[in-house]
Amino acid sequence: MSELAERFETHDPGEKQVAEKIRCDACPVMCYIADGRTGACDRYGNVGGRIVRMDPLTILDHAAETGGAVVPFVAEGEAWNGELVNTGRRFVTAIGAGTTYPDYKPAPFIVSQEVEGVDLVTVVTEGIFSYCGVKVKIDTDRHIGPETATVRAEGEAIGHVTTGEYGSQMLSLGGVHHLTGGSKAEGRATCDAMLNLCNRKPVELTIDGGATVIVEAGKPPVIDGKIEHRMRVGCGSATIGMFATQWRGLVDEVVVVDDHITGVVSEHQAGKVLGWQDTGIKIIGRRSTPGRYFKVSEPGLGWGGTSISDPLSILGEWNVKKGARPGLSLLMVSTTGEQFAYYELDDDLKPVEKPFPERLQKSVGLIEENCEPALCTVLFIGGAGGSLRAGVTENPVNLTRSVQGLKTYVTVGGAPVYVWPGGGITLMVDVTRVPEGAFGYVPTPALVAPIEFTLRRDDYVRLGGYEAEIRSVEDILAKGGEYLNPRRGTGAPVSNPWPPLAQLRRAANGAG
Ligand code: SF4
Repeated sequence: MSELAERFETHDPGEKQVAEKIRCDACPVMCYIADGRTGACDRYGNVGGRIVRMDPLTILDHAAETGGAVVPFVAEGEAWNGELVNTGRRFVTAIGAGTTYPDYKPAPFIVSQEVEGVDLVTVVTEGIFSYCGVKVKIDTDRHIGPETATVRAEGEAIGHVTTGEYGSQMLSLGGVHHLTGGSKAEGRATCDAMLNLCNRKPVELTIDGGATVIVEAGKPPVIDGKIEHRMRVGCGSATIGMFATQWRGLVDEVVVVDDHITGVVSEHQAGKVLGWQDTGIKIIGRRSTPGRYFKVSEPGLGWGGTSISDPLSILGEWNVKKGARPGLSLLMVSTTGEQFAYYELDDDLKPVEKPFPERLQKSVGLIEENCEPALCTVLFIGGAGGSLRAGVTENPVNLTRSVQGLKTYVTVGGAPVYVWPGGGITLMVDVTRVPEGAFGYVPTPALVAPIEFTLRRDDYVRLGGYEAEIRSVEDILAKGGEYLNPRRGTGAPVSNPWPPLAQLRRAANGAG
């Protein structure tokens, strides 16, 4: 059982000696916590009879943009010396801010800051996301499992394989049905896997009828124990189009083996335009258009995401009437250039493998060179259109409209998000852009993610914001908040822009 699962087991708010403990009300679990101990999620503890958020509040320094140089912690009661973060380009993230459960009260921090002459407000809270999931993109051609196949962690169903994308396999994990709609074990395993994925830790996933994959955000996937180094240069047809000129005059025929679209240069439009001669080749597969073949094999872990290890198995009889002749040369290559072989037809028009000729090395190398590194990408997706809006404004729908109208800029731990069009505030964020360790959980189960809403101060007041709760960054640095935790400063990742003034100005001018 995982560490997280054990915590679920040991938590018991009804245990004895409740009177000597104090209650944390930061989530529906309502832990009673003894002095010196932490609650079920480890995010809150009882320190000397007071509920304290155990992680520091994280403040990004956008002037430094060092991407990780951490200013020493400032403990409760100590003054912030302001030296390294006194530039007017700071951002109070929600990491360590605490929550507002059950959302009847204002968000933990409502921060005002003038940036380049614009008075901005950032509303900061750690959201409890019962409706959330993780989308995983795995850069590989290999068949990791059929579409809709169940994905498991610790043996429990936590999601499914969804539609593949160009050069990548996709997983859809989590969601409210796995979190809360199945067994307790399923909910725990789902929460555990999502938490680790979002915090950029490796997670082993098994796919029904498919592979075992180790996924870690920003790292190459490990598929059935093998590290995937490259993603393909393109489908077989695209590869023909890109490299047909390189092969001209060096070989009579080229087949790019691909599970989706296998390409044949002599038949392909690119080959025709360049004047390639017919070779009488026969591909066993479903011909889509000239030189493009579907289903030459079953999907698998072999050449180009097929199940084959011998590329000749996709060839039929050579047709002498259409150009086949003894001595005709043939290159077969996969879409990553990792597998390749060279053949010549013998007197019986059978391909015979020959040593790979030097003249073709460069073109195969060019395919490899054009392949990008294979990575795992993890996007957290969550619905912020629910009760946490009440911590921002007394009239929650105003926040939704402001986000949809691009007047409010949403970030997760300072990282930009994509907000889905349509109703609600459904957002996605690349977890590698969020500071490490920013995600937490509560045992309901649900994930906890930092979320910040930034908008012009006048807009904030107009939408019914808690004007009386607005504080300056300096005041927050000096005094902290309700949960008494220290503050820490860290250089903002260079890739995360601040402030989002361009967008806010556009919106103010009616262009949004
Ligand atoms: S699980 Fe965490 S947030 Fe929820 S009540 Fe317990 S300590 Fe507080």
